[in-house]
Amino acid sequence: MSRPSILHLLNQAEPNTIVTARGWVRTRRGNKAVSFIALNDGSTIHNLQVVVDYAKINEEDIKAIGTGACLKVTGLLVESPAAGQRVELQATEIEIYGLADETFPMQKKGHTLEFLREQAHLRFRTNTFGAVFRVRHALAFAIHKYYNDNGYIYLHTPIITGSDAEGAGAMFRVTTFEPNAAPVTDGVVDFSQDFFGRSTHLTVSGQLEGELGAMALGKVYTFGPTFRAEQSNTSRHLAEFWMIEPEVAFNDLEDNMNLAEDFLKYLVNYALEHCKDDLEFLNKQYDTTLIERLQFVLANDFQRLTYTEAIEILKATKHKFEFAVDWSTDLQSEHERYLVEQHFGRPVILTDYPKDIKAFYMRLNDDGKTVRAMDVLFPGIGEIIGGSQREERYDQLVARMDAMGVPTDELWWYLDTRKFGTAPHAGFGLGFERLVLFVTGMTNIRDVIPFPRFPQNASF
Ligand code: ATP
Ligand code: MN
Repeated sequence: MSRPSILHLLNQAEPNTIVTARGWVRTRRGNKAVSFIALNDGSTIHNLQVVVDYAKINEEDIKAIGTGACLKVTGLLVESPAAGQRVELQATEIEIYGLADETFPMQKKGHTLEFLREQAHLRFRTNTFGAVFRVRHALAFAIHKYYNDNGYIYLHTPIITGSDAEGAGAMFRVTTFEPNAAPVTDGVVDFSQDFFGRSTHLTVSGQLEGELGAMALGKVYTFGPTFRAEQSNTSRHLAEFWMIEPEVAFNDLEDNMNLAEDFLKYLVNYALEHCKDDLEFLNKQYDTTLIERLQFVLANDFQRLTYTEAIEILKATKHKFEFAVDWSTDLQSEHERYLVEQHFGRPVILTDYPKDIKAFYMRLNDDGKTVRAMDVLFPGIGEIIGGSQREERYDQLVARMDAMGVPTDELWWYLDTRKFGTAPHAGFGLGFERLVLFVTGMTNIRDVIPFPRFPQNASF
């Protein structure tokens, strides 16, 4: 039996046919003769209006139905006299799957996002989170489509990693030892007795393994969860987030920038084309410049400049920053956003950062001071992508690792790619939630992932 979604009923189903709709009640209002029930099943931001005529259905039978209840409604789909909807449903039969009493937390409209974060198990039932998670889905699908259509291989890199030298942030340990019963030899925990016979962690990035794939499959990408045990309680950081990491053999930094820009524009365009109703809702509800901003990103080239040029701009401005800027210091979010939002007024790609503030695997420039790094900076977000052309020369790579205290013996497998048939290559990491933030116009990263993980929060 086919079960038409409310999206289908609203947009496509033939009027004057008998249909069945299932969904959750958003509101019920009415008068002595009829009730109007707004029904939503998550397939669209729009509700199906169900008209309950007490001449056909006993008022007593639906008296208990309030916001949050779940119903199966059968009736005649008719053209709607009301503005803004093609059809409505004249109920002839209502089955109540589940009632929701007045303690249902989403009873009223207009809850704050903070309140809804505490009701994360039920917040899917709101217009806002319905819209956000439909957009999130569309973007995830578009990512796979983009890479598939461009000849990339989706590579599944491990979530549990034996290397703690990925160089991208603090890691969570993975162990089967009980906290108080770990075997100790000479005063240190003996991980040779642990599940994997060694110390293991949750991955912070799939890049190093991605490079192994690229050095054989040519064009690969990963799209999976990554974990960082940072105490960064910000609106742009999660302890568990999803990352997309393309890695491409024979690409240089220029190719890498072109890929990043083309990819981001493709995704923004995909959302504008496929999530129109949801984006219009978010545009109206939260940020009336959202759609304009998305269109602006599509229409304009990203501004490309070096880190050194950016430092000169930041030093020359009269704008007051909390943190001082100086060549060789990492840029803070406030600096990134100044460049994007005030100075250039468009997305920015910064390249050629000082080697000391970037990871060991980035290709050293001939100046000996900077590396072929690139960060893509977006309005309202700051860094959305971090990437680089990789150091493919064995000797230079080992020298960088030694200088930075990265253990070459542990990463022997990574170094093997440089020993056997090395090749220029480049890649980057796009933080999926930062992309969803940008496209939905939400301002807190905890609102664009279904179950956010951050310090002191992992209750369900
Ligand atoms: P930031 O400086 O913003 O903390 P980063 O330089 O540590 O980020 P990278 O290691 O370059 O981040 O990771 C690649 C991308 O992953 C970033 O550009 C960003 O979009 C995203 N990202 C990084 N850390 C987080 C996090 N804790 N939560 C959500 N997304 C993140
Ligand atoms: Mn980065």
